[in-house]
Amino acid sequence: MKLATLLIHNGHETDGATGALGTPVYQTSTFDRGPDFRGDGTAPAGRLEYDYARSGNPTRKALEDAVALLEGGDGGYAFSSGVAAIASVLGIFQAGDHVITAEDIYGGSYRLLNTWFKRWALQHTALGRVSPETVRAAIRPETKALFIETPSNPLLKITDIRASCAAAREAGLITIVDNTFMTPLLQRPLEAGADIVVHSATKFLGGHSDVLAGIAVTKTRELGKRVYAVQNTFGAVLGPWDSFLVARGIKTLKVRVETQQATASRLADALSRHRNVETVYYPGLPGHTGAELHAAQAEGPGAVLSFKTRTTEQAFAFLGRTRLAAPAVSLGGVETIASYPVRMSHAAIPPAERDRLGISGTLIRISAGLEDADDLIEDFYAALS
Ligand SMILES: *Cc1c(COP(=O)(O)O)cnc(C)c1O
Repeated sequence: MKLATLLIHNGHETDGATGALGTPVYQTSTFDRGPDFRGDGTAPAGRLEYDYARSGNPTRKALEDAVALLEGGDGGYAFSSGVAAIASVLGIFQAGDHVITAEDIYGGSYRLLNTWFKRWALQHTALGRVSPETVRAAIRPETKALFIETPSNPLLKITDIRASCAAAREAGLITIVDNTFMTPLLQRPLEAGADIVVHSATKFLGGHSDVLAGIAVTKTRELGKRVYAVQNTFGAVLGPWDSFLVARGIKTLKVRVETQQATASRLADALSRHRNVETVYYPGLPGHTGAELHAAQAEGPGAVLSFKTRTTEQAFAFLGRTRLAAPAVSLGGVETIASYPVRMSHAAIPPAERDRLGISGTLIRISAGLEDADDLIEDFYAALS
């Protein structure tokens, strides 16, 4: 079946116990194990699957199964946030292991590797550009994984997933891909050779800026067991109500992402023609570096773009005057968000380092929402002029 159908029909579309069409919220911490002890064979099928909600909860399971199916993986694991999912996946490694990543991964992932995991002696190398050559050059005897994100944040740099995964696999590494910006609707890294996909489900999967959540999907049962062991041991699990919200959001993923993507394309085009805009970063623009590669490995450019105004004053004026874009962090919600990386996601990076990475005071990142595209263009032009 096509993904549009799988968004709705994923094996959990009706509740086995009642026939409810909505995903029931099993707001419980524990489960009656009486039948275990009676041993008279009277337990209904599936009754003994759950014992304690950290180990498993049917509402969480419905979400985990749905995302695993969409990504084409063996199993899904839902966490209390995107960084909890990433931290738990990195938790399958041990002190002394080494991970290769990119300089422009999500700020929270950068912080995890540079502060938290550093204290636990997980080593890493951040590459300026991830390519088979740079990956091969960074491999050490203790290297265990490659961790990438494409398009990257906030400059939408494109990494070749297939080639990077192949280079990693040759050396026996596993590849982890953060697929938050694309969602499985537009990009399926496991099909391109990745081993684990992670998501901040806070963004497009949830889609309504009302829940914090993270998901990891593993390609094999063996890796799934390792991630599950961390999920169950470390315990950063997603609660039943939040699992329900994300599962509910996913049902409309296709209509949301397609509409938001069409709007992002129109915004990118309109912005690139405004006199106060210096550059627009969007994989859907023909001039964007890596646009062809992106088109070859993803089904669309997505709904996130960035642009640079000519002066910092113009960037400030835009953020102060736009009436439709909320100046805020995050992305992927139904409302358009304008974030200002130097003051928000990348504020912790020293200015000189930010300049080197191209993250200047003129840079604004837009996540297109579900407002009318013409209204957004009119609002953006007014705010920019
Ligand atoms: C937001 C985000 C995360 C972190 O997710 P949280 O849900 O905020 O913890 C990780 N990766 C990317 C690409 C993100 O945008």
